[in-house]
Amino acid sequence: MVIKVNDLDLQDRLGMTSHHPRWAIAFKFKARQATSKLLDVEFQVGRTGSITPVAKIEPVHIGGVTISSISLFNEDIIREKDLMKNDTVLVERAGDVIPYIVKSLAELRPADAVPIVFPTKCPTCNSQLFKEEGEAVWRCINIECPAQVVERIIHFTSKDAMDIRGFGDANVRKFHSLGLLEDIPGIYKLDFDQIGRMEGFGAKSIDNLRSAIETSKSQPLHRLIFGLGIRFVGETTAKTLAQSVSHLKEFTNYSVEQLMQLEDVGTKVASSIHHFFNNPQNLQMLDELESLGLQLRNTKKDKVEAGGLSGQTFLFTGTLPTLKRSEAEAMAEAQGGKLLSGVSAKLNYLVVGEDAGSKLEKAKKISTIKILNEAEFLALINR
Ligand SMILES: [Zn+2]
Repeated sequence: MVIKVNDLDLQDRLGMTSHHPRWAIAFKFKARQATSKLLDVEFQVGRTGSITPVAKIEPVHIGGVTISSISLFNEDIIREKDLMKNDTVLVERAGDVIPYIVKSLAELRPADAVPIVFPTKCPTCNSQLFKEEGEAVWRCINIECPAQVVERIIHFTSKDAMDIRGFGDANVRKFHSLGLLEDIPGIYKLDFDQIGRMEGFGAKSIDNLRSAIETSKSQPLHRLIFGLGIRFVGETTAKTLAQSVSHLKEFTNYSVEQLMQLEDVGTKVASSIHHFFNNPQNLQMLDELESLGLQLRNTKKDKVEAGGLSGQTFLFTGTLPTLKRSEAEAMAEAQGGKLLSGVSAKLNYLVVGEDAGSKLEKAKKISTIKILNEAEFLALINR
C-alpha cells in the first residue's frame, strides 16, 4: 500500500528528493503467518520437464485466502527446512501473494512423521530423472512426456502467448486425456463434432472456442515465439527475435554466435534457441503450424508493436529493379530507419540492385550486415 498526500498544492510544496517524492510513502504490512500440518508432497512436471515438489497442507486461512497447496521449489529446500510428512509447519504469506513454508516445528514432530522421498523417475512417464551440474532442479528429459506436452499446450494458449480465450487449462487437460489433442498443432485440428457431443459443451461455447482459435492464427510473430516455450525465451527476447527476421524459420541458419549478437541474448539463451531451431521435430511443427494458417512471417503489426524499424540502418547500392533509389530510401525512413552513406559495422541492411560494386564486396566481409534484394527489402517493410 502506498500512502500519498492527496492535495496537489501540498505535493508541489513538498517536492522530491533525488530518489523519491516526499509526499508518498510505502506502508508495508507485516508478514502473516499460521501453522498447519504437512499432509503430503506431490511432484508436478512442468513444461520444461522440471519436477516441482508441492506441499499439501491442512487448509489454513492467512490474510483472507485459504491455502492448501504450497510450492517447495526443489529437493534442496526440503532438506534445508528439514520437512517431513505429518510435521507441523509454519506458513507465511508476506506482502506478495505466493505463500511459503518457513520451517517445520521440530519440537512438535509426531512419532508418525514420514521422510519425504524425492522420486528418481518421472511421476507421469516413468523416465529416469536427471539433474544438471550446479542445478537444484530434477528434470524429466523425455520430450514426449505427456505431462510436459500438456503444460506446453497450456502455455501456448495462455494470455501472454497466443491468448486463445476460453480454452483454458481444464479444457487442454480434458481434450488431451480423451486423445482429442496431442500437440500444439492439434489445437488447430480439433474435432468440434466430437467435442460438441461432450457434456458441458453447448453450441455457443463451441462457436466461441472455434473463433478464438481462428483469431489466434493472426497473432503477431513474437506471441507465437513466446508461445513455443523455448527455454529461457521470455516475452522480451521473443520480441527481439521476431524483429530480427522476416520469417521465423530463418533462425535455422543462425549460429550461436549470430544469436548472441541480438540484444540481451547471452550464451545460455543463444544455445537454447539454437538447439530449438536445429531439432527436426520442432521444424516439422513449425511447418505444420504454417500450413494450418498461422503467421510465421514478421508482419507489419508485429513491427508496430515492437517499434518498427526504428534505429535500424540502411544503405542502398546498385540499380533496383522497380524502385528509384530515392523512393526506397524514403520507405526505409518512413518506418524509422536511418540511412548511412558507407559500409561499416554500424550498418544493419545493405539493399543491393543491379551492378552493385565495392559496397557489396565490403559488406560481405561483415557478418552482421544483412544483404537484401529489392523483394526482400519490400517484404521487410511490408509493402
Ligand atoms: Zn516425464
